Amino acid sequence: MRELAERCDILGIPLRTEGELCVDRCCDFRKTLNVILPGLSVVQDCMHVEGRIMSTVAKDSPARSYVGQELSKALIRQRSDGKGNPSLYWEASEQVKQLQEVQKTFAVVGGVWTEASVRAFQWQIKHAANGCLQRRHPSIPSHTSGNENWHSHINGLTHGDASSLTTLVALLADAVLRFNLKVKIYSLSQPSESPSRMFRAATNGSHWIFLIHSMLRKREDLYGSKQPKLLDICPEHHFGLVSLESE
Ligand SMILES: [Zn+2]
Repeated sequence: MRELAERCDILGIPLRTEGELCVDRCCDFRKTLNVILPGLSVVQDCMHVEGRIMSTVAKDSPARSYVGQELSKALIRQRSDGKGNPSLYWEASEQVKQLQEVQKTFAVVGGVWTEASVRAFQWQIKHAANGCLQRRHPSIPSHTSGNENWHSHINGLTHGDASSLTTLVALLADAVLRFNLKVKIYSLSQPSESPSRMFRAATNGSHWIFLIHSMLRKREDLYGSKQPKLLDICPEHHFGLVSLESE
């Protein structure tokens, strides 16, 4: 995260002061991350809150899918339209009230909650009350569902353990190439004249970035005018990847 912040400094992205990181296990990570980046907001993805509660629902309960829908409604005021408009969340106090309501309603129905549900609700309500599900910039999509979709894309290629950001980026690149995906980035955190955004615009969504980079160099020679460059920022960064210790 420190290396990522250094990179953002160079790119003009205010990660240190305006950044938000959405992680599973928000409160466990917040303290450690704030040692390095005290201005970073660390929050929770709604899907994990729901998932923690759903994993305690009786497996044979016919109400399962209905419980899932009600949990979503308790947290989200308006769903994302998938076109760049993000999901909007209820205020913390409203989320707490509605989660308690869902717990109560299905307790009356019976056959839904298990012993573990009480504890799951206790914890997740604590996160909601703590503001862990509130967004720092509600108008900016956090793309956490996109992130979850990536898990299945990557799992389709290879099953691996959590490792470094470097490995993850390599896996993402591999997935983009193999599935031949067009990459859509909304560029909400950088001014349009920033060099990285100009290069991104030149790729027009294509993932063949090195090819485009060399084509732009050729164009530069032919036209004699400057073309956007693929930036090489902090090449010394290794994002948590450590070299094998020699015997
Ligand atoms: Zn939390």
